[in-house]
Amino acid sequence: MFNLILFGPPGSGKGTQSEKLTLKYGLKHLSTGDLLRSEIAGQTPLGLAVKNLMAEGKLVPDEIVIEMINSVLDNNPHVNGFLFDGFPRTTAQAEALDKLLVQKGTEIGLVLALQVSQQELIKRLLNRGRTSDRVDDVSEEVIAARISEYEKKTAAVAEHYKKYGKVEYVHGEGSIDEIFDLLCKEIDQKKVA
Ligand code: AMP
Repeated sequence: MFNLILFGPPGSGKGTQSEKLTLKYGLKHLSTGDLLRSEIAGQTPLGLAVKNLMAEGKLVPDEIVIEMINSVLDNNPHVNGFLFDGFPRTTAQAEALDKLLVQKGTEIGLVLALQVSQQELIKRLLNRGRTSDRVDDVSEEVIAARISEYEKKTAAVAEHYKKYGKVEYVHGEGSIDEIFDLLCKEIDQKKVA
């Protein structure tokens, strides 16, 4: 089993690259943002509980996302590996994930961290706000709140995995295919190593 975390700030291209990587490597894509949005669309109690936080660009409580991840791991026992996109977003989530994977006899193989300038992130998110139905991409204020949550709480996740020598940085500006090639190179090196 090969488990990958695609890491980076909002707008760094995690969703786009995840789709291509899961196809190429046969991984199960696990995006906590997508899972939460489908809870909101289904108007479930969980969806109602997180809706306002998400609209404000704030992280939802760790317990909620950890529980969601736990059940997806349980429901997919026979996959080649998972690609985590938008998770873990706090050190507490990273520690919980590591424990869950140990219980399943596996671990994180690689953390690929996409690096994109703040100016480019804001440009991409506003552009996505114009073309998608994501409410959290529309206002500059909410985008700023998401970037601030990333800096305050999420950036530390890379430090957590650096301790284990699992992080590789990839330049996340360029064409989708150029960035995809860089990511694949890192994965291929790690998988044959
Ligand atoms: P994303 O689609 O990954 O950009 O996530 C959209 C929003 O969902 C975030 O701004 C958070 O409000 C929430 N969210 C997604 N994943 C997580 C997570 N792992 N921990 C906390 N909140 C999350």
